[in-house]
Amino acid sequence: MSAPYAAPDDFRTAVLDAGLLVASAVDGVYQLSGEFEDVLQGLQRHLGSQRVDHDAPRRWFPPVLPRAEFLRTDYVASFPDLVGSVDVFRGSDAEHKALLGDLEQGCDWTQHLEPAEIVLSSAGCHSLYATLPAQIPDEASRAEICGFVFRHESGPDPTRLQSFRMYEFVLVGTPEQALGHRDSWMPRALAVLEGLGLRPRVEVAHDPFFGRAGRMLVAGQVEAALKYEFVVDITDATGTAIASANYQQDHFGRTFSLTTGDGQPAHGACMAFGLERTTLALYAAHGLDLAAWPADVRAALGC
Ligand code: 5GP
Ligand code: ZN
Repeated sequence: MSAPYAAPDDFRTAVLDAGLLVASAVDGVYQLSGEFEDVLQGLQRHLGSQRVDHDAPRRWFPPVLPRAEFLRTDYVASFPDLVGSVDVFRGSDAEHKALLGDLEQGCDWTQHLEPAEIVLSSAGCHSLYATLPAQIPDEASRAEICGFVFRHESGPDPTRLQSFRMYEFVLVGTPEQALGHRDSWMPRALAVLEGLGLRPRVEVAHDPFFGRAGRMLVAGQVEAALKYEFVVDITDATGTAIASANYQQDHFGRTFSLTTGDGQPAHGACMAFGLERTTLALYAAHGLDLAAWPADVRAALGC
């Protein structure tokens, strides 16, 4: 069966023509229409309604996190090309003058800036770990989280955004609790996406979580099946991952010094949904006219 669109360019033209996205001068940076955001908010509420851990705290994160915490995630070792750092100006009046002079001359004014104490967030759950208790309770720590993340993606494919939101269900605890969390979420995630008329296939992901060294261990990761992606066909060109189910083993437990009752580094798992991508997948599956979507899908999304 062929995908709704032949190529990413066709999908991009269609969503721009329909006014769902408004392009900026930079690939991967779009404004969203009010209707698109309404659908996305409905999706967010619908995903939240699938929660099984009713006591898990729900947290909405800002798009930035402390630089020191970010470094603990090791993301910069795995995906340096996707990272976004924030620069700020802390100079004197004289330095400000020099900055304006460079700007006027068309020179590099950013040389007058310096790295801030924050960076742009690369994954929703990264903001969580430093706020968890160092001693993870026997029943595990769970959280339902949402936040904007940044990835320095490029290209005209509208499903490759530089700034997008992730909605995640996270657990930190023993290896059994973490794996149980991930593995119980996979059929639930499949069911909720299918209930919205999407037909994702579940694939073992090939990108390593951690470190350049990890990249060489890709085969090991596939073997261990640490990360599964829920992939839909929006275009004939390539599948689009709209959600992922991740088992990070003890990586964040080690780097954030989180331990379980037995004194071992805690293990972590998260079920992550990309809100913009899933919303785009819904438009691709049901058409760009929201009024013509199946009634049950619109009811589930409340729009
Ligand atoms: P992961 O952490 O597994 O790479 O990403 C989690 C989810 O975020 C993905 O399944 C996808 O839905 C979303 N995502 C990842 N990269 C992008 C991107 O470049 N653009 C958009 N819109 N969503 C993305
Ligand atoms: Zn996560």
